[in-house]
Amino acid sequence: MDQNHLFEIGLGLSAPWKVVRSGLEESGPQSKILYVDIDFEVGSRFPCPICGKPCAVYDSEVKRWRHMNFWQHATFLSARVPRVECPEHKVRQMEVPWGRPGSGFTLMFEALVMALVKEMPVAAVAALVGEHDTRLRRILRHYVGEAHAAQDWSELEAVAIDETATRKGHRYATVVVEIDLEIKREARLLFMTPGRTAASVGQFAEAMDAHGTSAPQVQVAAIDMSPAYQKGVAEHLPQAKVVFDRFHVMKLAGEALDTVRRQLRAQGVDLKGAMWALRGNWENLRQEQRELRLELCTRHKALGRAVALRESLQETWRWPGPASAALHLEGRCSWAARNRLAPFQQLLARTLKAHWKGILASYPHHVTSAAIEAINGIIQTARRRARGFRIFLNLQAICYWTAGRLNLSIPSSFTHPI
Ligand SMILES: [Zn+2]
Repeated sequence: MDQNHLFEIGLGLSAPWKVVRSGLEESGPQSKILYVDIDFEVGSRFPCPICGKPCAVYDSEVKRWRHMNFWQHATFLSARVPRVECPEHKVRQMEVPWGRPGSGFTLMFEALVMALVKEMPVAAVAALVGEHDTRLRRILRHYVGEAHAAQDWSELEAVAIDETATRKGHRYATVVVEIDLEIKREARLLFMTPGRTAASVGQFAEAMDAHGTSAPQVQVAAIDMSPAYQKGVAEHLPQAKVVFDRFHVMKLAGEALDTVRRQLRAQGVDLKGAMWALRGNWENLRQEQRELRLELCTRHKALGRAVALRESLQETWRWPGPASAALHLEGRCSWAARNRLAPFQQLLARTLKAHWKGILASYPHHVTSAAIEAINGIIQTARRRARGFRIFLNLQAICYWTAGRLNLSIPSSFTHPI
């Protein structure tokens, strides 16, 4: 079997396409490329892209595509791409089965890039395959854009809406994550838009129509206590019950604890390492952090009370229903008042009191935004990997791709006949 025929089989080419020339060629002092030149038989007819009628070739132009490496060699396909002349539709450009128009990469190469960028930074993929990252991001945006536009949201019932930092400094985006109240499906990132205002929620509501659903279908919206999102949900998701979820309440409790710590430090108390030892749940701490936390809590009564209060606040969601959870919260309020912990008094007596109904609205579904926390983690990893995205659309594309559970349709061989 000759080498050209071997490449035809490897690429899955079928008539009228055939490999006419192939081999290695110097591309630099240390490197070679593999070229595979494809052509069609003289006298071949191609179907008109509009009506499908077999037509004669009008003219052709040689084009080139980067393909996956053949062993260590960058591989390029080139082919004469014809235009046909249809009696009815005049001169029309043909497409080739191995690449999309204007891409410069084969579909298989693009499929490889899409798989790699899900796992590693785009810049690292670019270095690995020897292409400029701008070109790879273009591939990413193309496929993600297509798949996201086609995504079906018709079963959507509940969402979590949150802000996420997109750049160092203070740039924020709003992310909308689908929550499945029966927890049958994995959470997915549906929507991401720059800014964190009521209008950001409006942009999501507007986007719903194109995905087989509409704003009144959303029954539950889990949000933080910012006035912007409350206003956004009231205006744009009219049927949604607002839930201030556990994640956001506990975030505020964490901030209150940190305020207590900073107040102590401002009084000249030495609290080295305290920030890390006091942050997070006991079960996630390393042994030395646990020891330090215990020591700090014993030495500084205010810290001890603050930690205990935060932990006991966390118990709120263990209660089976809203009435018992409400009693529990009431208890925390009087405890904070007795202990004269100003940051917690502020949190419980003012902030949580004002949002009582929405906090208790997490019953009966036990709505949590654990999903949004997880997806926020993915977004922050993507952002750090890219060392801050210059173009929002690039960050959006990689986030939809890694957290949006998109269905991608890239053929992995070229076997479909033209
Ligand atoms: Zn035609």
